[in-house]
Amino acid sequence: MVSRVIPVDDFDLVIFGATGDLAQRKILPGLFRRFVAGQIPESARIIGAARTDQDDAAFRSEAAKAIVEFGGISADDPRLAQFLELLGYTPIDAKGEGGWTDLKSRIRPGAVHAFYFSVAPALFGDIASRLASHGIADEKSRIVVEKPFGRDLETARALNATLARHFAEEQIYRIDHYLGKETVQNLMAVRFANILFEPLWNSQYVDHVQITVAETVGVAGRGSYYDKSGAIRDMVQNHMMQLLCLIAMEPPYHFDPNAVRDEKLKVIRALQPVEPGDIVRGQYQGDGKSSGYVEDSENPDSRTESYVAMKVCISNWRWQGTPFYLRTGKKLRARTSEIAIVFREPPHSIFDDSGAPKANELVIRLQPNEGMNLKVMIKEPGPGGMRLVQVPLDMSFAEALGADGSDMPDAYERLIMDVIRGNQTLFMRGDEVEAAWAWTDPIIAAWEDSKRRPEPYDAGSSGPEEALRLMHRDNRRWREIRA
Ligand code: NAP
Repeated sequence: MVSRVIPVDDFDLVIFGATGDLAQRKILPGLFRRFVAGQIPESARIIGAARTDQDDAAFRSEAAKAIVEFGGISADDPRLAQFLELLGYTPIDAKGEGGWTDLKSRIRPGAVHAFYFSVAPALFGDIASRLASHGIADEKSRIVVEKPFGRDLETARALNATLARHFAEEQIYRIDHYLGKETVQNLMAVRFANILFEPLWNSQYVDHVQITVAETVGVAGRGSYYDKSGAIRDMVQNHMMQLLCLIAMEPPYHFDPNAVRDEKLKVIRALQPVEPGDIVRGQYQGDGKSSGYVEDSENPDSRTESYVAMKVCISNWRWQGTPFYLRTGKKLRARTSEIAIVFREPPHSIFDDSGAPKANELVIRLQPNEGMNLKVMIKEPGPGGMRLVQVPLDMSFAEALGADGSDMPDAYERLIMDVIRGNQTLFMRGDEVEAAWAWTDPIIAAWEDSKRRPEPYDAGSSGPEEALRLMHRDNRRWREIRA
């Protein structure tokens, strides 16, 4: 199957923070790929902005290096030279008045205007107000803001209020790149475009749901930043919350940005507070060969969690009695992100001596190898009576989309194209972000008030023992963490 590419309208995209890590590693290579795919018109303009004093040529050569390094192409690929023609650069300090007039002169009337804030959140307000005061952005412009969106409800509200001074909610695109993943969108297609699953998608048939985001890397290199955040702020409040919402939400009346986001918001509001006994925090330990969390964070007294597992309950008709177990951590056994919908076992087995049928599982893999896998029971082939065996019905999206899946857009590419199209469905609305913090804040506050320390776990393990017990006491087991 070849994916269809629908070109977007002519646009001017300004990337604030164009010299930074995210722009170089993800945004510019992503735009290049969309250009090669034929989605970006040759008339489009991509304008970098940051404090570094350089001209268009220097920025193009820096961008070329990044695209070769992170885009996996050769430096003499002729399409690279064509793409670089689209790029320009304006030196701007977000906190100063210089450069804005030059930027304004580069923006063409008639094109779609998008401003990507790929800078520290502390600069969002400065950029938003200067875009407005210099008459660069108008009521049709769009702004894209990166995570973290606040560190608690109060700061998220303040950030929303700052942006709202200059931009309407319909103009603000809050990125959560998890929502740009092919599988995450397919989750909605599977649920709402098939009759097969939705009738079973409730507590009568679903025993529990597991959401796992496991990483093999530690926090070395960004330890002091991470130490002020921790797994709950870094992963649960945003990415995992979004995944939970897409699994738990009611069908929206239409696949429309506000209809989808209204349903997600209802899920967040129905989340019960997490009891202290339903959450386990962990910190990875050093083992002589590799450093532990406290060394990586350079904070020997740190109580920040590099791992968290929790049982989350949703108070509504659909999910009463079906817990959602969330876990995420650093330096775990394998790098994997997946959602497992574990169905209940059949109420009665007609097969005497073949062992009880196992519960069906629908496993949605976000990485690596995006795809879905439905575990079903069948008869073990061959003679010898009726023996049952559980087999996966496997669907890999990469294979379904092309010979090697290389034409499958990365989450950032897809989301940037959605910004140009003006489609906010895969972006978080301000009230959603605030509701997520309103649920997360008491969990964080309860921990900060306690004197407990995170449970230690070995690097390369599945996390602390206590997290296993969180499941065992409910007669359930975590799925194995494996790539
Ligand atoms: P970074 O590497 O530190 O880059 C920051 C960028 O901001 C640089 O281009 C810097 O360029 C520019 N900048 C700093 N001060 C400025 C000022 N006063 N005026 C104008 N530009 C200024 O950060 P990053 O990793 O790219 O992250 C950017 C944003 O994305 C952050 O909000 C981060 O939390 C978020 N994010 C990043 C990642 C990632 O993988 N990197 C992932 C998710 C979210 P000059 O020094 O030339 O001004």
